[in-house]
Amino acid sequence: MQAEIITIGDELLIGQTIDTNSAWMGEQLNAIGMHVHQISSISDHDGHIQSALDDALERSDLILITGGLGPTKDDVTKFTLCEYFDTKLVKNQEVLDGIEAYFSGRGIPIMEANRLQAMLPEACTVLINTLGTASGMWFERNGKVVVSMPGVPYEMKGLMTREVLPRAQKHFKTPFIYHRTLLTFGRGESRIAEQIADLEEQMHAQGIKLAFLPAAGRVKLRLSSSGEREAQVKEKVDVLFERLRERLSDIVFGEGKTEMEEALAAVLKERKKTIACAESCTGGRIAALLSKHPGSSSFFLGGVVAYSNDVKMDVLGVQSASLEAHGAVSETTVKEMLLGALKLSNADYAMATSGIAGPDGGSERKPVGTVWVAYGSREKHFAVQLQLGSNRERIVSVATLSAINLLRQAILEGKV
Ligand code: ATP
Ligand code: MG
Repeated sequence: MQAEIITIGDELLIGQTIDTNSAWMGEQLNAIGMHVHQISSISDHDGHIQSALDDALERSDLILITGGLGPTKDDVTKFTLCEYFDTKLVKNQEVLDGIEAYFSGRGIPIMEANRLQAMLPEACTVLINTLGTASGMWFERNGKVVVSMPGVPYEMKGLMTREVLPRAQKHFKTPFIYHRTLLTFGRGESRIAEQIADLEEQMHAQGIKLAFLPAAGRVKLRLSSSGEREAQVKEKVDVLFERLRERLSDIVFGEGKTEMEEALAAVLKERKKTIACAESCTGGRIAALLSKHPGSSSFFLGGVVAYSNDVKMDVLGVQSASLEAHGAVSETTVKEMLLGALKLSNADYAMATSGIAGPDGGSERKPVGTVWVAYGSREKHFAVQLQLGSNRERIVSVATLSAINLLRQAILEGKV
């Protein structure tokens, strides 16, 4: 089944709002086995909306639209759809009651424009929006479906989850579709592909699709398959997923949507251990990730952002002789930073980073992208030198994830 997405709004076209709705909807549609083959963004203009619908209905079975349903004059989607489906607006009492309750619950006076949001096309199935005042609308024509939803992301997500996806599954009788994603860090996709060529062939033979999804430092490997029989589909994917996990065990850090810092958190929580960090080139990114998720305080004690040599010396106790002899980006300095963080926090483990993120500051011996990472405990700690290319943003993010991953692996291997 073919699906497509149309997002409406002048703000999307002038770069004021980034179209995050499409990305989310695409993922959800894919997960129920609808093949998304086009995403378009168009202006709040009836002519554009109509021609986009004409084109989309030529190609697709399901068309999801967001935006342009608000109470203001610039929102024309509802009126355009009414005309397009040759129907008229009628009052929907349930929606009107909801809108009145919404306003009285917030103690704000209701405007006529808000009451008009309860006037909805007679020819559609109204999808009740419990999170706002603009309703969803489900239209059908010759077995094809057009759904209009508000642009506000959390309202759209609510409608999708509660109404649109279950209805679409039923209407299009979509097959069962199953995904599993293996998360790896520290090896490029072409090397991984070479390493798993035989497994990829086995997957192909069994109708399992393998997608390589690279991001900074990481490669996600997503296996997917679909079919009528749920248990059968799951079993064949699970078997190959486990073979893949085994083959790549040295670089796997998790599965599904797990983040690197969550993988470390799980290891620390299980062992009831605490950590701290001392950061130079990562500028607090490690601390930000370690404190990102609820429950972080049970293992993360704190961090020092020691960007200048003075802070490295005065706060972390790095020796001026070490800085003079080896420089800030060196094994000696990064290990002293680590010991400083351990001393200040009394944590069981720490991580420290010092590197040249560029674009300036590189030299022949230490080019931009040189990063030293230290990890471990007071008694057992290690440092490694990484070469992370020349893009500042990438250097910082890969250094951050590397530090977290190095400590995670060292704990799991009993090295620290
Ligand atoms: P409202 O009742 O809020 O006017 P609406 O259906 O008219 O709802 P819009 O006016 O298009 O929706 O957008 C409302 C809000 O949702 C805006 O803040 C906009 O930036 C955001 N938004 C709209 N479309 C998208 C999109 N495709 N991706 C992310 N955010 C969006
Ligand atoms: Mg609007």
